[in-house]
Amino acid sequence: MELIKEKDRMRSIVEDARARGLMVGVVPTMGYFHEGHLELMRRARVDCDVVVVTLFVNPTQFTPGEDLADYPRDLDRDKEMAAGVGVDYIFNPEADEMYPEESCTHVEVEGLSEVMCGASRPGHFRGVATVVAKLFNIVPAQRAYFGMKDGQQLAVIRRMAADLDFPVEITGVPTIREDSGLAMSSRNTYLTDEELEDAVSLSTALARAAELIGSGERSARVIRRAMEEMFEAVPGVILEYIAICDNILLQPLEELKGTVMIALAARVGKARLIDNMVFEIE
Ligand code: AMP
Repeated sequence: MELIKEKDRMRSIVEDARARGLMVGVVPTMGYFHEGHLELMRRARVDCDVVVVTLFVNPTQFTPGEDLADYPRDLDRDKEMAAGVGVDYIFNPEADEMYPEESCTHVEVEGLSEVMCGASRPGHFRGVATVVAKLFNIVPAQRAYFGMKDGQQLAVIRRMAADLDFPVEITGVPTIREDSGLAMSSRNTYLTDEELEDAVSLSTALARAAELIGSGERSARVIRRAMEEMFEAVPGVILEYIAICDNILLQPLEELKGTVMIALAARVGKARLIDNMVFEIE
């Protein structure tokens, strides 16, 4: 496995591979790998001849006051883990390689970016869409892999790739969870043991929604209320939102129909956690 720091070198490696008829897959990440990241890499390894992981803690997707400086980092550990699942290249640029001082172009995915997490993180999805567009140009892979754990991010990236005609096939990979049900996240490292227990309430609330849907409930109001009640019993968790929406444009639904995403965000201690589930409803 090779670590690449320069954009030009990264692009020419991928172009050469493609010229030789190889299938290239890219897995964009911010590092500090866990099983969720490894699952994306394994999936890419199965589908593709060449696997590129990008590892870049993208400053433009952090809003002022967020955890950019504290975001966990351990490149040596990440290198070992990626090599262990057969990754070929890690693209790990410095911030000034990605954003020269004079750069001033942004990608804005309107509508989807302002709701849900976008409401409390203004500019976050603009940062995400811009860096992913850049990464698709620097690593011109035929396939890209993203986690369904970040459901809104996946919807924003799918929209951006379709609207800007990026010739890349995007695969959403199901969320990897701890045995407790907690969705794996690099930010779980911020949690104390007690907070880890409280944090399980996010997935428990989604499981309750699944149960209600399974028993025929279709009212978003009833499902949201049942989920909110569960959080009232866990004072360590400060709920930010529960969204019940379609999976494409993230428009709120009153009645569950078609492909529905139920997503939520909450603060637990120092961490802001998100989770979601997607349901196919007839
Ligand atoms: P991050 O490094 O947190 O930006 O995540 C990089 C990629 O890994 C994104 O596409 C995430 O959606 C995905 N990811 C993060 N956590 C998980 C998880 N628990 N299960 C599956 N994918 C995940």
